[in-house]
Amino acid sequence: MTTLYLVIPCYNEEAVLPHTAPAFLDKLRQLQAEGRISPASRVLFVDDGSRDGTWRLITGLAADETLVEGLRLSRNRGHQNALLAGLMAAMPLADATVSLDCDGQDDIDAVDAMLTEYEAGCDVVYGVRSDRSSDSAFKRLTARGFYRLMSWMGVESVYDHADYRLMSRRALEGLAAFKEKNLYLRGMVPLVGYRSSSVYYTRSPRVAGESHYPLGKMLALAVNGITSLSVKPLKLITALGLGVSFISLIMIIWSLIRHFTDATVSGWSSLMCVILFLGGVQLLCVGVLGEYIGKIYLEVKGRPRYLVAESTLEAKEMAEE
Ligand code: UDP
Ligand code: MG
Repeated sequence: MTTLYLVIPCYNEEAVLPHTAPAFLDKLRQLQAEGRISPASRVLFVDDGSRDGTWRLITGLAADETLVEGLRLSRNRGHQNALLAGLMAAMPLADATVSLDCDGQDDIDAVDAMLTEYEAGCDVVYGVRSDRSSDSAFKRLTARGFYRLMSWMGVESVYDHADYRLMSRRALEGLAAFKEKNLYLRGMVPLVGYRSSSVYYTRSPRVAGESHYPLGKMLALAVNGITSLSVKPLKLITALGLGVSFISLIMIIWSLIRHFTDATVSGWSSLMCVILFLGGVQLLCVGVLGEYIGKIYLEVKGRPRYLVAESTLEAKEMAEE
């Protein structure tokens, strides 16, 4: 029987957890009653250095329910790192993990269909939103722009799939072999490969609390995803450089012709245009290069992606020994 771990990152979610935690537990109990998952299956909450009472809630749940485990990072490391911490902690214990948000936006009932795909031999099952009507028009527009930009920039990812997905232990072991510090899991999981499929679900509004992904953070995630998974911007720079050089060559020939055929007048405006344009293009390109050099700098330092401060898993392991 499959041992399933639900891995759920939480950051300042004390308003949400009391609403959604029972739903996660009910789902596990239902699947256990159906005999689809083993009694060793668990819900693993990862507290991403919350400043509110989230960890207290998690330890409270873990004390009351054998089905609940908690993991606490030493500080806030962001959604992607928190998720990876949970997946890596669950890897040796689970046959399969399902990662999802703790705010109730990812329809927990899609887990049944994911398990069916897993049982049919898939190592990765993507949860894909079939409907975004619960999101605001602005969120929908920016999200669409986000996926377009990513695919145009050469990052292979599944359209309208966030981080709601099932991964087998084999797929997790593959993911563990990716040592990069700049995480963009949505782009990394397709690189792991193995057989995959998709399950569709309707995204509902947040049960309570506020989104931690405003436009700024979404842009940061996009830049991070692109610069850590694709070198397309560097190639675009080369193409841009070629294009600009070609135009410059034509202009040089044209100005020489003008110089020898008739008297040239002082061309202040055209000169300004060329200087400003070239200056802008060069600065932009230096900026893109800088973005990559920054990434290399961070990768070379090899800092840990997260540190675990506390864990109910370890406490139980020690009790068993
Ligand atoms: N989250 C996290 N660390 C952070 C920010 C968010 O672990 O620094 C978690 C958060 O608790 C939630 C999930 O990541 O479970 C997705 O965040 P949110 O719902 O705010 O994003 P949205 O659904 O609006 O994109
Ligand atoms: Mg959310």
